[in-house]
Amino acid sequence: MNPSSTEREPAAELSEEPELIVARYGELWLKGKNRRNFEQILARNVLRAVREISPARLQRAHGQLAIYPERRTREVSRRVQDIFGFTSVSPAWSSPKDFDAIARIARHVLGQAMRRYPLEPTVAFRVRTQRADKTFPVISTELDRRIADHVMPDFEERLHVDLNEPELTLSIHIRPENAYVYAERLKGAGGLPVGTLGNALCLLSGGIDSPVAAWLTMKRGCNVSFVSFHSEPYIGEGSKRKIKQLAHAVSHFQGPSRLYSVPFARCQEEIRDRCRPGYRTVLYRRMMQRIAQRIARRAKAGALITGDSLGQVASQTLENLTCIGAAVTIPVLRPLICFDKEETIALARRIGTFDLSIRPEPDCCTVFQPTKPVIRGSLAVCEEEETNLDVEALVDAAVAGVEIIRIRGARG
Ligand code: ATP
Ligand code: MG
Repeated sequence: MNPSSTEREPAAELSEEPELIVARYGELWLKGKNRRNFEQILARNVLRAVREISPARLQRAHGQLAIYPERRTREVSRRVQDIFGFTSVSPAWSSPKDFDAIARIARHVLGQAMRRYPLEPTVAFRVRTQRADKTFPVISTELDRRIADHVMPDFEERLHVDLNEPELTLSIHIRPENAYVYAERLKGAGGLPVGTLGNALCLLSGGIDSPVAAWLTMKRGCNVSFVSFHSEPYIGEGSKRKIKQLAHAVSHFQGPSRLYSVPFARCQEEIRDRCRPGYRTVLYRRMMQRIAQRIARRAKAGALITGDSLGQVASQTLENLTCIGAAVTIPVLRPLICFDKEETIALARRIGTFDLSIRPEPDCCTVFQPTKPVIRGSLAVCEEEETNLDVEALVDAAVAGVEIIRIRGARG
């Protein structure tokens, strides 16, 4: 029997700030040695990402990680939502494993959760218990019912039970060491932990597309370094600064990285002076790929990443992409190849690179742009034109002039 809410003791005097974060990962391909590796890298990524907010202690459990920050748990939780590898994240309170303690905390957690809902209409509600510790004396369905009986009188008018389609689920995990109670399930970033799939090198321009391509590659578990080509003295410092800011912004999702900044004006002058004007852009791109391939070797990167999207501009027809890709043997990944511009823009906004990308700064490819760039380039013509260049010497000189910039991995 429940006393009426006016006679009841107040809900537990617990802090507004949750104590821990339960972060879940999908584990479809996680077996044996893979799992250990995955979990270790994920744990390292978590500690690194949250370090600036609070030190934290981690506890591994089946399919999830419990993160105990020393302070500012909500802020840490928002940070964890941006770490690849987690499907969902719940700020939680921990409890000793006895019914009264769990019930007290459950009232507190529900009280907090109800602040997010308007007074009307009533909220579809259920309690869901998971009992990892089977020695706990009350079975899950029984605990669901008893906790619901205990917490619902606080909000009698505002809750109704719906076991099938609850809007609000009060979750209780009974674990070997303690119990967790939570009522929020926030979306995780998905994907795989950065670092589980090796390294890639992204050709980063100042546009909208390439930062999104880098982000998608990080999402699939790659650590991404960056290479950008600049045309000083034809183009000023502003472009370089912008690229650096973009690399910082997108590295929020992976942590520290490197940006290789390559002087490219010499290659462009040679191509302008010695090759057909219509082929300039395609030939620039072939040089970029060759230089990037050399840097990739140095950075131990197994693939190049570009922001190309089929048909978006003249250099991105099937024929021209074929000409460009044929300059190197390293795999070139183009995560946006079949994206519409609107889809890319929506992602750029979501990951916080859009506003930076649209700041007007010229790109190096605009230098000596021909009036009529070739749309359907031929590889034979590219190779023919390049006999007028000392390709190896140009690549060597560009690589020798590379400036390496450390990227912190933060917003802005
Ligand atoms: P973005 O928005 O990424 O600049 P875009 O649609 O403007 O792409 P292009 O400028 O033709 O397309 O470039 C295609 C891809 O080539 C870019 O996404 C990028 O990966 C690479 N690229 C172009 N210019 C540079 C540069 N200056 N430095 C490094 N990479 C570049
Ligand atoms: Mg561009």
